[in-house]
Amino acid sequence: MYDAIIVGLGPAGSTAMESLAAAGWRVLGLDQADFPRPKVCAGCLSLKLDKVLAPGFHSVVERTVRGMTLSYRGERSFHFRAARPLGYMTMRERFDAYLLEAALRRGGEARTGERVLRVREAADAIVVTTRGHDYEGRFLIAADGAASTVARQLGRRRERQVALALESEVAVGKPRLGALGDEVRIEFGTIPFGCAWVFPKADHVSVGVGGLKGRIGSLKAYYTSYVSRERLAAASLLRNRGGWAIPLHPRRGAQFGTRRCLFTGDAAELVDPFIGEGIYYAVRSGQLAADSLLGATEDAAALVRYEAALRRELCPELAWARRVATFFYSFPKLAYRVLTENEAVRASALAVLRGDERYRAVWLEFRRQAGRALLQWMRPRRTRPARRLSFPGNGSGSHAWLGGYDDETAPQSANFQQSVPGRWVPPLGGNHLSGGVPLPPAAKVGVGGATHRGRRENGRAPAEQRQDLPFWQHSRYRHQDARR
Ligand SMILES: Cc1cc2nc3c(=O)[nH]c(=O)nc-3n(C[C@H](O)[C@H](O)[C@H](O)COP(=O)(O)OP(=O)(O)OC[C@H]3O[C@@H](n4cnc5c(N)ncnc54)[C@H](O)[C@@H]3O)c2cc1C
Repeated sequence: MYDAIIVGLGPAGSTAMESLAAAGWRVLGLDQADFPRPKVCAGCLSLKLDKVLAPGFHSVVERTVRGMTLSYRGERSFHFRAARPLGYMTMRERFDAYLLEAALRRGGEARTGERVLRVREAADAIVVTTRGHDYEGRFLIAADGAASTVARQLGRRRERQVALALESEVAVGKPRLGALGDEVRIEFGTIPFGCAWVFPKADHVSVGVGGLKGRIGSLKAYYTSYVSRERLAAASLLRNRGGWAIPLHPRRGAQFGTRRCLFTGDAAELVDPFIGEGIYYAVRSGQLAADSLLGATEDAAALVRYEAALRRELCPELAWARRVATFFYSFPKLAYRVLTENEAVRASALAVLRGDERYRAVWLEFRRQAGRALLQWMRPRRTRPARRLSFPGNGSGSHAWLGGYDDETAPQSANFQQSVPGRWVPPLGGNHLSGGVPLPPAAKVGVGGATHRGRRENGRAPAEQRQDLPFWQHSRYRHQDARR
């Protein structure tokens, strides 16, 4: 009998195996795939991993991210660079193989290419059945990912909130790769409750789209239009990774195991609902599961210890991330403005990305600034002076902040990539949008709090313009309807 069996040898399974084997436990790891195996993933590693993994994982990091270009529906680009890294880019086949090798070096035993079909929990052991084999262990760790066979068989409820994502690896020419350099591109607003991204790797880019299941229609259609907007349609496809589910951390009722089995990583729905980050949570939950088994004085105590550790360390953060996600994706236009225009929000978001700050800070800052922005929007337009259109708390003045900036140095408006005026109708008028840069006449409608007097914006009638706005702004057009 093994001390522990681990099903799934992704980041959660391998790190759990490494910790248990290092403590002298007899551990068996099973995975249906042969390693190195491909995995549908954008491969962005959080800097938080530096705190929980040995530095050796940097050997499989292909790029260190230092910049970001955000956009809203392909427009309103916001670009910035940071002096300190924001994340690491890897290819999952390399990263996961590295983690597995580290676990094997510690004395773990792995059988790959062996799919687990059944799991049965008895009073004093747990039996895992693959094709042709039965393995018996005192404990089991479920690390078999989003569609976890183990968790389902041991009674976990079906995931209630799942994001669906589609991803490809695309070859781009050297000039394009060089232009991207160490920066990622992320687009919000097009995909309901989701986003699209281009992440640079050593010799190609990973391109993907993802959104909440039930809110998105055809991911493929979003992918196709995003790829053409990013001018990647003509680039050659290296690998179409296809679609995959991302089990987002639930609001309540998360299940983390049974008496003899602990669920980890995606199998425990430990994914950040805001940015879809799951690798760090997989690694850390694998480590916490191993620690809980090692520290349990009796079998029944393992789950209690594990749940306590998760609720102390990971769940609060994921719960705050959920609040941010709910706000951000419910009001993407407002939230995008708050994120890109307010220095305090941006600074706390960056600190969270780096693991220096908790999501709670972002949430509180978001709520405060969004509340102020909403109040401004709802004030009568005629009485609002143009000067008050900028966000409060924005230390860099009313215009300069719109330029791309380095979060550790002064704003540099030269980096600002002005978006093409089109569907974006500035809710507060064009003045703050332009960042001091003169806008074309069509985009100037509404500058300085002027009301819309039935004018055509970007060649479209007011009724059409209104469709682009959130419901609370429809009143801006009421007086026009009345006159007609
Ligand atoms: C498109 C996409 C992009 C993403 N981008 C990022 C990102 O940039 N950064 C980030 O942090 N997270 C990202 N994620 C989330 C991240 O990929 C997961 O959270 C992470 O892989 C979870 O690790 P895990 O060890 O729990 O499971 P996995 O990595 O999924 O590993 C599960 C393992 O279990 C094995 N397995 C499954 N079923 C069985 C079975 N029945 N028998 C035996 N073996 C089995 C599989 O072969 C696999 O090796 C992304 C996800 C998707 C879908």
